[in-house]
Amino acid sequence: MKPPDFDYVAPTSVDDAVKALGSDSEAKVLAGGQSLIPLLAFRLAGPSLLVDLARVDGLDHITDDGDSLVIGAMTRQRRAERDPLVAERCPLLVESLRHVGHPQIRSRGTIGGSVAHADPAGELPAVVLALGGRVHVTGPAGDRAIEAEELFQGFLSTSIADGEVLTAVEIPASGPRTGWSVVEVARRPGDYALCGALCQVQLDGDGTVLNAHLALIGVGDRPMRAHAVEAAVLSGASPTEAATLAPDGLNPGSDVHASSDYRLHLATVTSRRALTQALERAA
Ligand SMILES: Cc1cc2nc3c(=O)[nH]c(=O)nc-3n(C[C@H](O)[C@H](O)[C@H](O)COP(=O)(O)OP(=O)(O)OC[C@H]3O[C@@H](n4cnc5c(N)ncnc54)[C@H](O)[C@@H]3O)c2cc1C
Repeated sequence: MKPPDFDYVAPTSVDDAVKALGSDSEAKVLAGGQSLIPLLAFRLAGPSLLVDLARVDGLDHITDDGDSLVIGAMTRQRRAERDPLVAERCPLLVESLRHVGHPQIRSRGTIGGSVAHADPAGELPAVVLALGGRVHVTGPAGDRAIEAEELFQGFLSTSIADGEVLTAVEIPASGPRTGWSVVEVARRPGDYALCGALCQVQLDGDGTVLNAHLALIGVGDRPMRAHAVEAAVLSGASPTEAATLAPDGLNPGSDVHASSDYRLHLATVTSRRALTQALERAA
């Protein structure tokens, strides 16, 4: 199928992008196109105007502001995956990026596009959620930040308003004695996961768990933070004990790829494996 007709603009500043979005209530941002173009081709989306961010200045950067890593929305996923600063300050992001599709997709796909797309099986939304990150957006009313817990509203749905542009993703940087892990079950390498667990833990000098972060993908209409599992780990539960809490509050759907029960089973299995590996890496 071919997409329906649409107009196209390629502004060079965020302000002009916001103006263009404001000029048409059916306008949509185009970033790397790796999710949007297939949606257009299948006529699952039909915007009348595409506002391409490719030429906008200042959206392609990776900076360390001391406490956080700030990544410009148009930074290509492949660049972040290979960046030494990201490897040092957020190894969970690097490992997560390796699970995103294939290198060709990551060469075009952007960090901001993946987070804005909010696929419930997408790795990057889960990293931002697990680590308590936030996004920065600019709209007609100016700039604002949205905390990850407020960002993901449902299937492919976020609290970024129509007419707003996501400009940067901010992720708290990891400290010393941090371990991380991404464990997924997928039908084929490069496929979206049937279920996955993304985990980061930090130990103190005595080996006590200082903080634990775990998000699950593929088990709901959005990435899900496993607060019960995190609390159990913090109170000294083993990965096996804590992971039994992973299905708490989840109600995944069944589809041709996996039943709801199987996804719940995978939530426990992937959580246990991810916690075990993260704790080993932190030790
Ligand atoms: C074969 C294939 C396999 C894939 N496998 C995976 C996978 O395993 N895991 C995974 O996470 N992803 C996967 N993806 C998706 C990939 O990560 C996309 O790159 C990503 O989801 C969207 O990023 P993009 O830059 O291409 O955004 P686009 O496709 O251009 O945009 C996606 C959506 O976000 C909106 N948007 C984009 N940027 C902004 C912005 N700055 N501000 C406001 N709104 C914005 C767009 O309007 C659109 O609605 C796969 C894609 C393909 C084609």
